Amino acid sequence: MRRPSARSFPRLLILLSCLLFQWAASGQARAADPYVFNGGRAFEDLQHLVAYGPRPPGSKALEASRQWIIGQLKAAGCVVKQDRFVASTPVGDIPMVNLIAEIPGKAPDKIVMIAGHYDTKLENDFRFVGANDGGSSAAFLLELARELRPTKHKLTYWLVFFDGEEAIKNWTDTDSLYGSRHLAAKLTQDGELSRIQAMILVDMIGDAHLDIDWDQDSTAWLNKLVFQQADKLGYSKYFLRQTIVMDDDHIPFVNAGVSAVDLIDFDYGPNNIYWHTAQDLPEHCSPSSLTIVGRVVRATLDELENSPHIQ
Ligand SMILES: [Zn+2]
Repeated sequence: MRRPSARSFPRLLILLSCLLFQWAASGQARAADPYVFNGGRAFEDLQHLVAYGPRPPGSKALEASRQWIIGQLKAAGCVVKQDRFVASTPVGDIPMVNLIAEIPGKAPDKIVMIAGHYDTKLENDFRFVGANDGGSSAAFLLELARELRPTKHKLTYWLVFFDGEEAIKNWTDTDSLYGSRHLAAKLTQDGELSRIQAMILVDMIGDAHLDIDWDQDSTAWLNKLVFQQADKLGYSKYFLRQTIVMDDDHIPFVNAGVSAVDLIDFDYGPNNIYWHTAQDLPEHCSPSSLTIVGRVVRATLDELENSPHIQ
C-alpha cells in the first residue's frame, strides 16, 4: 500500500471520520432496531417447501415437508409437539397433524399463538404448489422461531402450523379449517384455552405486491395494535384500511373467545388470479414482503409483552 503523503492527511482524516461516523450510525441503527426479520432466509424456506410439490392433507409430500419443518424447528432450539387427529372429510377420513413449537417465556400460562397453515389445496386438474398459500405462512413461522428463540421473553410463544386449512372439496363450515377447529376444541376440552391470550394468524403474506386488509372478523384492539405497528415502521402503504371479512384459521378461536387477528393479503395477482391456481409460484412472492410482515409481527409481540389486554 502506498503511504499517504503529508498533503493528503487532512483529506484522509475527513474520510476516516466519515467512515467512522457511518460505522457508528449503522451500529446504532442495528442496536435500535429489535424487529429484525430475515425475509431472505424465509424465502429460501418457501422455495424449499414448494420443491416438495403439492402438499395436500394426508399426502406423502406433506409428511416429508412436515419432517423437514420439525427438523428446522428443533435446530432453532424449539420443543415441537405433534397434535395428531383424524379428520372426517367429504372423501373419507384423513389423518392430519398440527405442529406446535413452544418458545417458553417467564410466564408459562400467558401464551401468544402465532399461527399459519402448511397444507396446500388439493387440486386434481393442475399442479398446485402453494408458494404463497401454505408456503409463505409455514416459511414465515420457521423464520420467526429462529428470530424469537434466542431471547427470553415475558410471554410464552406458540408457533402453530395448522394442517387441513383448505377445503378438501368445496369450502363449507365442515369442509375447511380442520386443524384450527380441532386445536380450538381440544384446548377447550382440556381446560387450556384460557392460557391463550392472543392469536396472530398469517396467511398468503408472501405476495410480491403486498396489501393486507383489515379483517372485520378479527378482534378490534388487536387489529388496531398490528396496524399501528405497521404505521410506526413506515409500512402504511402495505397495511390498508380497506375492510374484508375472512373465513380463516382464526375463526374457531375467535368463536371460542380468544382475541385474534388475521393478517392476509387476499389480492394475489391482478384480480386475485394467482390464488388457488398453478400460478401460485415463488416468482410471484418476495423476500421483502416476508420481512415487512415479520417486522410488524415482531413489533406487535413487543407491544403485547406489556399490553393491558394480557391478563
Ligand atoms: Zn387457500
